[in-house]
Amino acid sequence: MTPTQPWPVDARHAHLMTGVSLLAAIGTLLIWFTDRQQGLTTAWDQWTIPMLSALYFGISVLHVIKPRCMPWALPPTLIATSVYLLVALHLAMVGQSLPKLYAATSLTQLIPVFYVIAFVSWPRGGAGISGLTYAGLLAQYLFSLHAPMPAGGWSDVHQLTQKTLLASVVIHPACILALSFITHLRGQLSTSQQEAFKGKERFLAMLSHEIRTPLQAMLGSIDLLALKLHGSTETRALDRLRNSATQLDTHLRDITEFTRLEDPALRIQADTFDLTQLLQDLRDDWIERAQSKGLTLSIDIAPDEQTSLQTVTADATRVRQIVSNLISNALKYTMVGGVTVHASLSRQQRGRAMTIVVEDSGIGIAAHHLAAIFQPYVRLEDARALRVDGSGLGLAVVQRLVDRLGGRLHVDSHPDRGSRFTVELPMADNG
Ligand code: ADP
Repeated sequence: MTPTQPWPVDARHAHLMTGVSLLAAIGTLLIWFTDRQQGLTTAWDQWTIPMLSALYFGISVLHVIKPRCMPWALPPTLIATSVYLLVALHLAMVGQSLPKLYAATSLTQLIPVFYVIAFVSWPRGGAGISGLTYAGLLAQYLFSLHAPMPAGGWSDVHQLTQKTLLASVVIHPACILALSFITHLRGQLSTSQQEAFKGKERFLAMLSHEIRTPLQAMLGSIDLLALKLHGSTETRALDRLRNSATQLDTHLRDITEFTRLEDPALRIQADTFDLTQLLQDLRDDWIERAQSKGLTLSIDIAPDEQTSLQTVTADATRVRQIVSNLISNALKYTMVGGVTVHASLSRQQRGRAMTIVVEDSGIGIAAHHLAAIFQPYVRLEDARALRVDGSGLGLAVVQRLVDRLGGRLHVDSHPDRGSRFTVELPMADNG
């Protein structure tokens, strides 16, 4: 069984953010606990730090169970953190004691970490919230300049706190500027990447159209000619011509499709559709092909799954494309027996998911080839030896589509015994 390809960027980003929120929750609680034991917490810290820690923990859980809520949950969390930091800093400034100096020093150290998290987790609002936090810091510094020097022995502490603030006031703009620059570069990179994809896509679409249109005309003429020709030599020549034209058409379609899937801006739709009907339609599309090879093609759905599979939510066109490619391969690489498509629903960590299995009794794949077959343009020797047509893009397209839908793809296969491709797709209504 092969694992899926690396997780898509969005999923990796979500995992990173889950980890960051969890570490922030544990970190703040640990600091609060140790500071409390040493009497370094203020009345303000007493409740706000555990509340913030609970908030961070909530965010990490939300990232896992409802990632779509993050755009609403993150801004209030960042604003709450900023307010906490500024109020805590203000309280540290007005008090004159060593614990307060410790509080001011540690808070000014924490603020740059806050800027980084704000920029990474909220690219649109990171600069705004960081700028406002910095403005608050600057105001505290100006306030400290006018605050009266305390009587007694605390003037050193007062000066040290002021110096700590001054260092932060001077250094933090560089930090915010650098983060703004990185975010800007990231945005530019994704825009130019998208433009490059669009250019490539336009070129391929044009190329594909220019070649496929005459190709379709050729196929039409071949069919017409076939009606007129009766000699076996001529018919064989015409069949070869038809096969070659069809192959060319399929290759062009695969290449265009594969390129389109490289586009990070490709939109995935969420439709509610009947999966049993979709599988039945696919069977109707492929049954003739199966029968022409003497193979069976059946859909296997447990009776108690029938009703729930009639309303699933996902991108129906993409699901159809995935299953169609897998059935096409199963029929291509099976000589005796048949192909069965199983479908079921499961409950996963993130909610409901549909599982579709395409199983065949074909030539199978050796274990050491299992990882390679998902690479673009890879065709195995066995497939070539069978003289079966293919571009080596079918499974690469399936892998990309499954990744785009946030799912997983596994394959179990044994030479001469057959293959079993399993696709797990989360329901689009989970998020
Ligand atoms: P192709 O156009 O060659 O079918 P794919 O990307 O769909 O390209 O598949 C890559 C290779 O994986 C195929 O050339 C074949 O060797 C192998 N393969 C794919 N599906 C099956 C299957 N169901 N049974 C056996 N081999 C398979």
